[in-house]
Amino acid sequence: MANVQMGETETFVFQAKINQLLSLIINTFYSNKEIFQRELTINASDALDKIRFEGLTDKSKLDAQPELFIRLVPDKANKTLSIIDSDIGMTKADLVNNLGTIARSGTKEFMEALQAGADVSMIGQFGVGFYSAYLVAEKVIVTTRHNDDEQYIWESQAGGSFTITRDTAGKQLGRETKITLYLKEDQLEYLEERRIKDLVKKHSEFISYPIYLWTEKTTEKEISDDEDDEESKKEEDDDIEEVDEDKDKKSQKKKVKEVSHEWQQINKQKPIWLRKPEEITKEEYASFYKSLTND
Ligand code: ADP
Repeated sequence: MANVQMGETETFVFQAKINQLLSLIINTFYSNKEIFQRELTINASDALDKIRFEGLTDKSKLDAQPELFIRLVPDKANKTLSIIDSDIGMTKADLVNNLGTIARSGTKEFMEALQAGADVSMIGQFGVGFYSAYLVAEKVIVTTRHNDDEQYIWESQAGGSFTITRDTAGKQLGRETKITLYLKEDQLEYLEERRIKDLVKKHSEFISYPIYLWTEKTTEKEISDDEDDEESKKEEDDDIEEVDEDKDKKSQKKKVKEVSHEWQQINKQKPIWLRKPEEITKEEYASFYKSLTND
């Protein structure tokens, strides 16, 4: 493991097999790229289970962030999709070991399976699901804070190496892991609200933590001209855009578009076996079966 110190940023070389796997993921054509969403959500859920479990014996472990959640934030301006959750987090050592320098047996096995014709969607069964992020992203940044360590940033565009930097400048997290995918130009569909909702429904409906999507809502509202003066002052801060000005009207009413955001829970969360059988649709049975079996 080469380790070059650059101020606060350290550069690490991916273990050879992991590097090979990354090249394969990036350079081979797989049509089933959407599975990255399921893999990263399962990772979040597993890591949430860990902190929930620790919290059972020692409640104070949850203090930094008592709420357990998964949040998805599409950012069209920056072409990023972030998966944020209040899981156990990773220490610096976890980042170095788990995301790049220690290859598990599954790394080689998965590559062999792929060459033998296995589908890329089986990646999770080999314990290397995280790297599926590179099916859709050209760069991945992981910002994380574990109870026992400071906040760190892991960053990589694959290409052989990754960096780890102590995060002193960014917003300080309680206990959180944020995975930001810088999407490839041809993968921007994963920023669309409809696409994300459908994917969660298909692959992550029965995750036992709430999955919230940062959604955008546009409403039109009418204002009179005098209000408009005030509104135009606000315009610089808010995303208010003028859509229609009806000058002939005596009342001098204007219509403005207002963009607001809210968290919308997009999974049902309640396990299928706790619901009434007659309320469960065929599609839900099918998607539950898939989520259980990876089929
Ligand atoms: P697996 O999840 O099957 O162990 P992955 O390649 O998906 O394999 O992840 C490797 C490891 O990285 C995990 O075992 C876990 O320790 C860590 N990890 C991945 N994603 C997260 C996350 N969102 N939060 C905390 N730890 C994570």
